[in-house]
Amino acid sequence: MAEKDYIQGATGPWEIVIGMEVHAQVSSKSKLFSGADTTFGAEPNHQVSLVDAAMPGMLPVINAYCVEQAVRTGLGLKAQINLHSVFDRKNYFYADLPQGYQISQYLQPIVGKGELLLDMPDGSTRTIGITRLHLEQDAGKSLHDQSPRESFIDLNRSGVALMEIVSEPDMRNSEEAGLYLKKLRTIVRYLGTCDGNMDEGSMRADVNVSVRKPGGPLGTRCEIKNVNSVRFVQQAIEYEARRQIEILEDGGKIDQETRLFDTGKGVTRSMRSKEEAHDYRYFPDPDLLPLEFEQSWVDGIKAALPELPDEKKARFIEKLGLSPYDAAVLVAEKESADFYEKVAKGRDGKLAANWVITEYFGLLNKSGQSMEEFVITAEKLGGLIDLISDNTISNRLAKDVFALMVETGKDAATIVEEKGMKQVTDTGAIEKVIDEVMAANQDKVAEYRSGKDKLFGFFVGQTMKASGGKANPAAVNELLKKKLAG
Ligand code: ADP
Ligand code: MG
Repeated sequence: MAEKDYIQGATGPWEIVIGMEVHAQVSSKSKLFSGADTTFGAEPNHQVSLVDAAMPGMLPVINAYCVEQAVRTGLGLKAQINLHSVFDRKNYFYADLPQGYQISQYLQPIVGKGELLLDMPDGSTRTIGITRLHLEQDAGKSLHDQSPRESFIDLNRSGVALMEIVSEPDMRNSEEAGLYLKKLRTIVRYLGTCDGNMDEGSMRADVNVSVRKPGGPLGTRCEIKNVNSVRFVQQAIEYEARRQIEILEDGGKIDQETRLFDTGKGVTRSMRSKEEAHDYRYFPDPDLLPLEFEQSWVDGIKAALPELPDEKKARFIEKLGLSPYDAAVLVAEKESADFYEKVAKGRDGKLAANWVITEYFGLLNKSGQSMEEFVITAEKLGGLIDLISDNTISNRLAKDVFALMVETGKDAATIVEEKGMKQVTDTGAIEKVIDEVMAANQDKVAEYRSGKDKLFGFFVGQTMKASGGKANPAAVNELLKKKLAG
């Protein structure tokens, strides 16, 4: 285990242990047990059926589409799909929970053990265990900031389908926790089962943190509820781990509790002591039958899954010659991977990757535009790369051409033609330039010939400059060596 996985405390190193429960909203038109709409940003209480408002005598009806999306997500996490699963009532009181219980799954969830691969910055991978995925309904939302004297309740979210995805306590630092969340988001986005928009609340994380001496038993954890960005998750872990270490080093003990992350102050604060499962009086919901699947149905869904990020990454490495790091960068967003594939088609995969990752994303980010809006299409970038590959322009000159493409919207060939930027590969023409450079620097030629090898770079520079940057660098090197040798 790497050094950086430990935090140094006064009495030696501590190891951080992290497990996450992520709530991911299923991308579906209607709610888990009613036909009400789920569109984000609607007027408060405009998307509430009698079921969502928990009117007496209403019956939940399972949304088959949501069930299928949970199965697809489970398969994307290489997880066990349980052919028999059960909905339970989790009983608790909250103002935005009109039923007085949440329909969830407890002992028999729809999805069991799976795994998720973290793409580490050094190109390696690390496996994080998935404990389970279950379906449940979301609660409504309490609005405390609309009036000084009253709170309001918006039930639009009440009954929306959530997948709760629980990890094993396998993460060891905030960086890994960030990578875990991002990878999970990438996977659900590839599958289309959740839009992954954390700023709209479509994905939220409960982060469990404990510390221990390496190799020792797991410490007591605190759970930080409802953190809604990758950066906040990481900040919360850093703060919480230090808080726990300080308590332990002072001879204290950690109380298992639920905490909140204050994004303004960057601290976690106690919310309540941790409730145990038995506090919720779980029991099977008598209004709902167990879910029963045929294995053949699951197999059919599996066969129809799209290519997922890990498989795409492996293909980019094997078939297109990319490094694991470059491949991971490109597959992180499906849109980038698709763009890259269009650029790389029929071209050198590595050259295309360098151009997409460094130059294209560099100027795209500078422009502040989306990939769709940006003036450089895959065809245009491909056209530029073709001019590099057939030696019309050097890689260096291509960067100038690229900047002009962004500026003018013209394609590479047009710019090269208009500006006369074609690379000179004609050896006769290059030799002529070299002769001129040598004639103008006879003293340096003499020095070089008497053993000052370092001057070679000077001659290359002068020749390139004299050719207006258009001479083919390889040809310049070769011819210079010959001529300087005398
Ligand atoms: P609950 O739903 O009551 O919070 P779970 O047993 O489902 O309890 O565990 C929730 C999460 O806590 C899981 O992601 C698990 O990996 C994590 N976890 C369990 N023990 C620890 C620990 N000692 N330190 C950090 N995380 C832990
Ligand atoms: Mg929990």
